[in-house]
Amino acid sequence: MSIDNFETKKLPNIKIVSKINLTKNAEELISQLGYNLKDCLLVSDKKIWQKYRQNFGKKFFQNIGDLLILSNPIADQYFVNKISEFIKDKQLIISFGSGTINDLCKYSSFLKQINYLVFSSAPSMNGYASANASIIINNHKKTLKAHTPLAIFNDLNILKKSPIKMIKAGIADTICLYSCWFDWKLSNLVFKTNFSDQSLKMQHDLWLKLFKNYHKFDLRDGYFIEILIDILITSSQAMNIANGSYPASQSEHLIAHSLTMKYPKKLKNILHGQLIAITTKTSLELQKIILEKLQKKQLQIPIIEKNWQSLLYKFFGKKIALEAIEEFKQKNLSNLNINKINQEIVTNYNLIYQELAKVYDYNQMAIKLNDHFKISHNIRQLKISKLQYFQAQRLAKYIRNRFSCLDFF
Ligand SMILES: [Zn+2]
Repeated sequence: MSIDNFETKKLPNIKIVSKINLTKNAEELISQLGYNLKDCLLVSDKKIWQKYRQNFGKKFFQNIGDLLILSNPIADQYFVNKISEFIKDKQLIISFGSGTINDLCKYSSFLKQINYLVFSSAPSMNGYASANASIIINNHKKTLKAHTPLAIFNDLNILKKSPIKMIKAGIADTICLYSCWFDWKLSNLVFKTNFSDQSLKMQHDLWLKLFKNYHKFDLRDGYFIEILIDILITSSQAMNIANGSYPASQSEHLIAHSLTMKYPKKLKNILHGQLIAITTKTSLELQKIILEKLQKKQLQIPIIEKNWQSLLYKFFGKKIALEAIEEFKQKNLSNLNINKINQEIVTNYNLIYQELAKVYDYNQMAIKLNDHFKISHNIRQLKISKLQYFQAQRLAKYIRNRFSCLDFF
């Protein structure tokens, strides 16, 4: 059986500061890290820049080495090259933005072997502190090895003004912790894959703060935003500790990934977290069924359908299907060892049930919090039919070498 090999690592050393109006002191913050502003290149998105540039203060503009303001950037090779050309002799990239800008700066600074730091512009995703970058290469979104930032500076005044849609996306991209916890524990109990309690609990401790008080907050509340950005950064730190995305990306992310590969154009304007809110609901429904089956002592892994490869070809086309087939093969699932695992499940029904039921309880809290903030789970936003969604969900277990609740359907 394939084991996800990882060792629990130490947290990378990232300076993290969250404060009201800290952008005003950008130059000082940067010089404290040992850099002169004239050796820095600031990269931002035109829309973000127009909205917040005045927060940096006059002196910053006199002293900054260079500015690169991108119109409608995409995290792809073209924009990576564009930033790389602009770096020239600069020693540090200042990334001012959220998902796309962060991925671009992280990856291009890594290629040029210089440091980068982040001024976050929205609490919308959990990639700020992660060592990987999501970049589109030849029309395929790839998770590429990069490096962590030197520092993450969160100006709470700016984050509070983020579009509501982005704040909701941020909540969804990290509250999926509980569906991840269930999947990862399930994988650990049934497929004997490695598991790191620490990487989950460090996120859970922060969520508990919100679970106690969530009904007092609205989405623009300063204290709430401060906890949210803290959870988002902790979520990427958790991935660094677990040496992989296990504590923040399981079945809900597999379904989302399957959907984005199949419907890239339709989902172009859907935020990652918006999609995760929808797919997490699906994962929770599947996990509920798993608990019910465990209770009835009926849980089994279905045998692999004979035509699984042709299903992938038909749905995704040749190129993506070939990649998916490679990933699924690494799971080392054959009908022979499925039989063996199923026999072991039978002898462990009670233990598996007890462990998973504990995690599922937290999910109920997560659902209440989602309802309070009116985060939508409606598939209609995606402009695809329920059948199209279901087909992407059904094939999601094949696209990555990762076990989750999807393997039980
Ligand atoms: Zn995510």
